[in-house]
Amino acid sequence: MGCTAERLALALRAAAAVIAVHRDELVELDRAIGDADHGENMHRGFTAVVAKLVGGGFDTPGAVLKVTATTLISTVGGASGPLYGTAFLRASTALGDTSEVDGPGAAAALRGALDGVVARGKAEVGDKTMVDALAPAVEAAKAAAEAGGDVAAVLAVAAEAGERGAESTVPLVARKGRASYLGERSAGHLDPGARSTALLLRALADEAGA
Ligand code: ADP
Ligand code: MG
Ligand code: MG
Repeated sequence: MGCTAERLALALRAAAAVIAVHRDELVELDRAIGDADHGENMHRGFTAVVAKLVGGGFDTPGAVLKVTATTLISTVGGASGPLYGTAFLRASTALGDTSEVDGPGAAAALRGALDGVVARGKAEVGDKTMVDALAPAVEAAKAAAEAGGDVAAVLAVAAEAGERGAESTVPLVARKGRASYLGERSAGHLDPGARSTALLLRALADEAGA
């Protein structure tokens, strides 16, 4: 079974709850190599997303992702706001007007999200950013979809790969964003944006694929 607009809206509300639970953790990660606001930024953004989604009435999963995108762009701020906003916008575009997301659709949406982040932020894998979580998630999702995986299977492997990818940022020296100002001193810390991406992927896998 695919993921409907209603199911996706529930999944995003669950993702917002996960961000709320991890707000302080994201603040502390960003305190180590940034300006200690990533948790606040994400929490503000996803609280606004929940407020937009609560009334329902979205015809397609793409419409749900689009309102998520515009809300994040106007509320998150910082580097991550436009990046996540563009990610959700491109994911929305990838889905078009489909009424239920299947395995290949989920993989295509994730691909769109990554392309959006890269187009906007110009980061590559290894630069110690959210791309280090999202890029392996996209690869894993593609493989699972090609193997015939449904939306649950595709999102599950994406979440796993995203978690491993986020962990891979710990030893890296940041080459993009605020953390890059620290140079070598950025090594030894988990990137906050990679962590939030992994959290979002896990929440979506647990709920949108259910
Ligand atoms: P700011 O750095 O403006 O305070 P946030 O703290 O909300 O914004 O977000 C920081 C996160 O944004 C970083 O941990 C990193 O994952 C991500 N980021 C920053 N610059 C880029 C970029 N050019 N490409 C991809 N991700 C980036
Ligand atoms: Mg910050
Ligand atoms: Mg900031």
